[in-house]
Parts: sequence; C-alpha cells; structure tokens
Amino acid sequence: MEFSRINIIGAGPAGASLAFFLSSLGYSNITVYESSKILGSKPCGMAVPASIKDLIKLENEHIINEIKGYRLFIDGKLLHEDISGTHWGYIINKQKFLEDLVSDVEVKREHLKINLDELSKRKDDLYVIAAGIYWNGSPKERLNAVEATVNVYNWNEPSIIQIWFDTKLMGYYWAFPHSEKKVNIGVGGFEDFFSLKARLIKFIKKIGSVEKMEPEKILGSQIVSTGIVDSILFPAENVFAIGEGVGSVLPLTGEGIRPSIQMAKIFSENISSKELFIQNLKSSTLYKTSKIQRKILSILKQMPPFLRNKIMRSIPKDIMIKIGLGSYSENDVNKLKLILKTFQV
Ligand SMILES: Cc1cc2nc3c(=O)[nH]c(=O)nc-3n(C[C@H](O)[C@H](O)[C@H](O)COP(=O)(O)OP(=O)(O)OC[C@H]3O[C@@H](n4cnc5c(N)ncnc54)[C@H](O)[C@@H]3O)c2cc1C
Repeated sequence: MEFSRINIIGAGPAGASLAFFLSSLGYSNITVYESSKILGSKPCGMAVPASIKDLIKLENEHIINEIKGYRLFIDGKLLHEDISGTHWGYIINKQKFLEDLVSDVEVKREHLKINLDELSKRKDDLYVIAAGIYWNGSPKERLNAVEATVNVYNWNEPSIIQIWFDTKLMGYYWAFPHSEKKVNIGVGGFEDFFSLKARLIKFIKKIGSVEKMEPEKILGSQIVSTGIVDSILFPAENVFAIGEGVGSVLPLTGEGIRPSIQMAKIFSENISSKELFIQNLKSSTLYKTSKIQRKILSILKQMPPFLRNKIMRSIPKDIMIKIGLGSYSENDVNKLKLILKTFQV
C-alpha cells in the first residue's frame, strides 16, 4: 500500500529508528513529530546490550562507555557475576544517537494531538504512534523509576555494571558507570516516586562515597510492565503504534531501547501489510521474550518475597543471562518451565 506521507509521532528510540529504517529503505515521504526540544531527554539509564549492533549502526560518538562485566545481586547478596572482560553492551549517548537517526528526515518540533478519529480520516496518510507512555492509549500498568548521575569517588570498576534485585520492593536498583567516577544510579519498582527517591538516596550512600547528593537532580518516569499488548498495535484505520506505547519494554529488566528499535525494524520491513507485520512480530525473539518475561513477572508478583528470592536463586546463571538478554532457545524455556513447576506455579 502506498501512502502520500508517513507521519511518525515521537522521536524516541522507536520513532527515530523507524524513520531511519524507512529512509534507508528508500522512503522519502517521512515526517517525524517531536514535542520535546531535546531528543532522548526522558530519564533513562541508557544501557543497551551488545546485540544492538546487529540491528542498527552505533558510531563511536554514540558510545559513552562499554560494559565489560556485571554483578547481579539479590536482596543484598551477590548472585552471579562476570568480570572476565566479556563485552556485554554499551552505555549510549541517547541524544546524539537519536539526533543522528533522524538527520536525513523532516522533523517537525511540535506536539501532534493524537485524536484517532481525526488521524484515521486522512486516508492517504499513514500515522505511526511512537509516543511512549505519553500516548493516552498506552498500557497503564507501569512501574515507577528514578535515577541520578553522580560522582562516586571510590568506584573502581568503570566498565562493570551492577544490578540489585530487591524481592520486597518487587524491583531493582542499577549502577551503570559512564566513566571512572561518574555513575548513573537508579531504582525501579512498584512503589510511589516519593519512596523510590528515598530508597535511591539510601542506596547511593550504601554503594559509594558521593561528594554531594542533590535530590533535585533525581529524575523520575514510568516504565510499562505489560510486555507487548497485541490489541493496541492498530488503534484505528491507517494508524499504527510501536515502541513502549504498546509495551515493547522487557517487563523483568525494564530494557526498552533495543526492544523499541527491534519493533520499529520489523514494522519498517512489513509496512505494507498488517498481517505480515503481526506474523513476523509474533515469530520474533522480541515478542517471545516479552511474553515470557511478562509471565515470570506476573508469577513473581503474586508470591511472598521469600519465594521470589528462592525462584530467582534456582534459575541457572546461563538461563538468567539469556532471558535477560532476550537470546534463548526453546530448550531454555522448557528448563525454566520445569523450575517454575517445582514451585507449583
Ligand atoms: C528511569 C528509567 C531508566 C531506563 N533505563 C533504560 C536503560 O538503561 N536501557 C533501556 O534499554 N531502557 C531503559 N528505560 C526504558 C526506555 O527509556 C524506554 O523504554 C524507551 O525510551 C522507549 O522508547 P519509545 O521511543 O517507545 O518512547 P520514548 O522514549 O518515551 O519516546 C517517545 C517520544 O515521543 C514524544 N512525544 C510524545 N507524544 C508526542 C506528541 N503527541 N507529539 C510529538 N511528540 C510526542 C516524546 O517527547 C518522546 O520524545 C528506562 C526508563 C526509565 C523511566
């Protein structure tokens, strides 16, 4: 199907990468609408797995730091680590990355009112909503997250990230170093912003010696926790939705940059056929990972914290990593199902 104009609403990872993929495929009739003055200004840890390079080009100037190891804690105790120098991923300069993705397309710096009836009346045009949680049709089941980038003076591992699962909070803390001493630290979970902010201040003091903690530098936002919601992919005639606005964020890890780009890529390759888009999306690892993580999250949410701790401890390291990174086999899923079965869930 030919459209006179392809309008993309939002220049976050989903919208900006869709514009990039479509323009690389030869489309020249693209307009991106972006209401924010600065691209990628939403609070974010900016960590992406190394496999992002299989999806989209990442130039040197897009990379703030390389992730060469991790430490994973559960309820304060070390669960798994790899500090052998394996290249796990990157901390990216999201603003520069997004700016470069849309550099060859028309970007209108304006807020486009998302009125589905109005948009679907413009039959010659295609509208793609990539407005994240700001679209009022996006899933309301979300967790809250707060983060701050601080100078930590005794941080001696500039390439090792830390993730601390907290089974009482039903969430996690993260520490993503940007350089020798500068670290992005955050916490996400099913609690209000006020208590998460208090938790973050406490956590920052616990893991490092910080020169000065300025609470006003703590930024917060929400993360959709439903996984991909099929029913809102086509909210109206000639209107599609992609990215976090349709739940393309991994429910257990809160990773949303690569999943949004993955969905944009699948959409760009199937723009002319709704059926093919759905078929290819459903057979993608992104979709399967999203569904599995959603299932695990729902199971964990219904359990008392001690059982959550037990389950997470019984998941073997390799499977934990694969599920987290979204690169697992049917065999891994079957092993995971067996583990859950031993807990009668
Ligand atoms: C605290 C925090 C930390 C995170 N850390 C990470 C991380 O380390 N790694 C990771 O992979 N993910 C992380 N995420 C998740 C990730 O940031 C999001 O999932 C991802 O940005 C979603 O991309 P998107 O393009 O779908 O939406 P968004 O990034 O939200 O982009 C939507 C864009 O649309 C624009 N917009 C909205 N409405 C309109 C309109 N009507 N007209 C014009 N423009 C509009 C907005 O201004 C925005 O720029 C984090 C999230 C939070 C809250």
